[in-house]
Amino acid sequence: MRMMTKKLAAIEAGGTKFMCTIGDSSGEIFAQERIPTTTPEETIKKCVEFFHNSHEEIEAFGIASFGPIDLDKKSPTWGYITTTPKPGWQNADLVGGFKSEFDVPFGFDTDVNGAALGEYKWGAAQGLDSIIYLTIGTGVGGGLLSNGTLAHGMLHPEMGHIILPLHEADIEQEYFGSCPFHKGCLEGLVCGPAIEKRYGQPSHELDEDHKAWDLISEYVAQALHNFVCIASPQKIIVGGGVTERSAVLPLVRTKLTKSLNGYVKTNTIENMEEYVVVPGLGNQSGSKGALALAERALLEA
Ligand code: ZN
Repeated sequence: MRMMTKKLAAIEAGGTKFMCTIGDSSGEIFAQERIPTTTPEETIKKCVEFFHNSHEEIEAFGIASFGPIDLDKKSPTWGYITTTPKPGWQNADLVGGFKSEFDVPFGFDTDVNGAALGEYKWGAAQGLDSIIYLTIGTGVGGGLLSNGTLAHGMLHPEMGHIILPLHEADIEQEYFGSCPFHKGCLEGLVCGPAIEKRYGQPSHELDEDHKAWDLISEYVAQALHNFVCIASPQKIIVGGGVTERSAVLPLVRTKLTKSLNGYVKTNTIENMEEYVVVPGLGNQSGSKGALALAERALLEA
């Protein structure tokens, strides 16, 4: 017989799918459903149906969403997705669509802040309190937990859009980046579509020894250098399709060590294999992160 614990609802809201999860405060997952992202109305309706049909008593909701999103609790548009380029989702009232159906506390944050919280509670960052979770796939995003607090500030960090110096190889092949806002920001240089544009093949079809991986690792290492210097994380967790390639993270670690050049020197960073790591929760970082947001919301209510 399963122990009676509080049931929490979690949604990892992405551009292609909404992953709906019912779990508890220990991180255990009881039910999960993948709902394709279509219009806000249809997607939210299908998610609401999933939770209603579960017949579980939901005590809190956690939503970890693609963005940008409004996280300012004093703002009339708190809980909204704001300036996303995704058609139909600009100014979509994401949390409101659930709040009208479930009168419980709601936690809301970026997908990557959620994943950082999940990894902190149940994954690769247990026992630490300052970490970065970076994902590199179709897009690039980073979440920051600093001294146990998820960084928000004015809006929320947008680590995927930092500007990096263009590598010689890209100057030679006249590749200047794919971001519609900044061209050669981190996302514009290392996301899956940027790799495909350079080499004419989807990134998952490139061999492990393709020259792409050296170039991508160079940019990722530069980005991590900047993050180490700005936020001093105790661990950096790197997820997403691009870094699932076995060639990438070993190269990133070597290049990061070289780039920092002994300036930032601690026992933690000397053990680079343990410093830059893959997610401990695998592909459940986001869903478990949303569960963790629900639990926080319940405790703060
Ligand atoms: Zn950008």
